[in-house]
Amino acid sequence: MVKAVVGANWGDEGKGKITDMLASNADYIVRFQGGANAGHTIVNEYGKFALHTLPSGVFYNHTTSVIGNGVALNIPLLFKEIQSLVEKGVPMPKILVSDRAQMVMPYHILFDQYEEERLGKKSFGSTKSGIAPFYSDKYAKIGFQVSELFDEEGLKEKVERVVEQKNVMLEHMYHKPLIDAKKLLEALHEYRDMVAPFVADVSTILNNAIKENKTILLEGQLGTLKDTDHGIYPMVTSSSTLAAYGAIGAGIPPYEIKQIITVCKAYSSAVGAGAFVSEIFGDEADELRRRGGDGGEYGATTGRPRRMGWFDCVASKYGCRMQGTTDVAFTVLDVLGYLDEIPICVGYEIDGEVTTDFPVTHLLEKAKPVFEVLPGWKCDIRGIKEYDKLPENCRKYIEFIEEHIGYPITMISNGPGREDIIYR
Ligand code: GDP
Repeated sequence: MVKAVVGANWGDEGKGKITDMLASNADYIVRFQGGANAGHTIVNEYGKFALHTLPSGVFYNHTTSVIGNGVALNIPLLFKEIQSLVEKGVPMPKILVSDRAQMVMPYHILFDQYEEERLGKKSFGSTKSGIAPFYSDKYAKIGFQVSELFDEEGLKEKVERVVEQKNVMLEHMYHKPLIDAKKLLEALHEYRDMVAPFVADVSTILNNAIKENKTILLEGQLGTLKDTDHGIYPMVTSSSTLAAYGAIGAGIPPYEIKQIITVCKAYSSAVGAGAFVSEIFGDEADELRRRGGDGGEYGATTGRPRRMGWFDCVASKYGCRMQGTTDVAFTVLDVLGYLDEIPICVGYEIDGEVTTDFPVTHLLEKAKPVFEVLPGWKCDIRGIKEYDKLPENCRKYIEFIEEHIGYPITMISNGPGREDIIYR
């Protein structure tokens, strides 16, 4: 059985916690897209961890953690992450890296920085992890698959060819230091030695696992609104964040994905530039940011303060639909316990008309939020295990949102820990 855990919104919905929780009954946990540009925060008995490359299942010893072919793999960072786990006493996880995964090259990170510098005020707010240059090269067919590290002759020839092209850009467009092909090749030899013990034909392994009725979790990064095609283009990420892409990025048949758990946060947050209709500012935003998540809404990778907003039914309905949601996991609800009243964005007003359908980017930029206000529940709901024990106003908030997004909320997360979950 294959299940996907994906985000409905702009990312940071708490997918890491939900995956970590579901991983207790899973055999394989697979990252299928994205790179080390976003992070999952996980709290468990070993401590608090920010994972950027490893899937959230690395804390169990019954699971195998898989880096699928769709991932932008930064090998030195993967190694740092493995080391940091082992240093904190986590047993060495079982890790498989797809031989078809492509590698983030040192120059991808530099090009990401140079381009954001060049764009100045018009920059995308990139995390400068090299993701956009990486995927550009992948589709321009000048990327490097992990498998190529094991073909020395081919590697040497390709490094020289690619460096020649990159150096033209570095010299004439960015006026930056050039790449030395020999040094790059040496770095790739180091990458090869680091990754060699983990390289595998992941697609075959996962297909066999499906035949043996194993449980596979596909773990998405970011959320629908950051999808390259269906998100707020161009303020998106450079890979598909949708569950459907899980089939491609892991190398499994699409019809094997039976459950799609879309994670939706009880309020909104976003990082980077782009329209954010239900955004709030000033003291109201500061307070929600400070109380949000587990220790505040600041980026797990970058430490940047996140932009804050009220729950957005328009964006979330669309976000759930594009994912092909079977279940919604509604997270971080406990954080809202301080509010007397809670606004919910139920529509967008665009050119004088109200819609509940998520528009294309140029119309989204004109959209003004239409809010409805629900009463708060004014208490701490952490520790509650049954739906019926939640305060009435809290249940009303959940049911109001469920009705507006049109997908069943079957899990409610009321704290950062694995056990802080209410099944419905
Ligand atoms: P992800 O990228 O979707 O995994 O999300 P992040 O890890 O960036 O953000 C989720 C943050 O919220 C983390 O700090 C989690 O520990 C925390 N978190 C997850 N679920 C809950 C919850 O139900 N309540 C609270 N208070 N924090 C949560």
